Parts: sequence; C-alpha cells; structure tokens
Amino acid sequence: MEIQEVKRFHKPRKPENEIRNFQHVKILDCNEPVSRVIYECWHCKQGLLTEVDVTSSQFLEVECPNCGRTAIRLMANKAISTTPIPSPWQ
Ligand SMILES: [Zn+2]
Repeated sequence: MEIQEVKRFHKPRKPENEIRNFQHVKILDCNEPVSRVIYECWHCKQGLLTEVDVTSSQFLEVECPNCGRTAIRLMANKAISTTPIPSPWQ
C-alpha cells in the first residue's frame, strides 16, 4: 500500500477564504482503482474518509455528511462512500 500525504492549496475564489487556504489530505491506495482519501471538511473540520473511484479523472465535489457543504474537491470518477472519522490532525 502506498501512502501519499500532501497539503492541498486552494486558489481562493472569495477574499474571506484566504485566511485558511490549505487542507490536510492523506491519500491511501493511490495506485489502486479505488483510493481512500482521509481529510478534514473544508468548512466544519470534521475528519472524513472517502472511498473514491479513480478509474477516470473529473472534477468532483464531495459533500460533507456532517455540515452538508462541499467538504473537498477531488479529481476522481466518483465518490463511493464518505464516513466521518476522528481527524488525525486534531
Ligand atoms: Zn463539514
């Protein structure tokens, strides 16, 4: 299993987003057709585990099950499941 840890930098579309413009993201199984992505919700900081189908790459917005807003934007085919988890970064 390969583990890749990155800090994603977002280009803020609104000035108020400039204050916190990065997000912890950890990608597991990044060499598999189904990857697991561990991250914190962009809005409420809920720790989340999403299984994503990465057999093709398209712009994908994953909804947070905790606050209902867009938790993260990924390049993937589709999100298979999203599970709230304790954040590894808190
Ligand atoms: Zn959230």
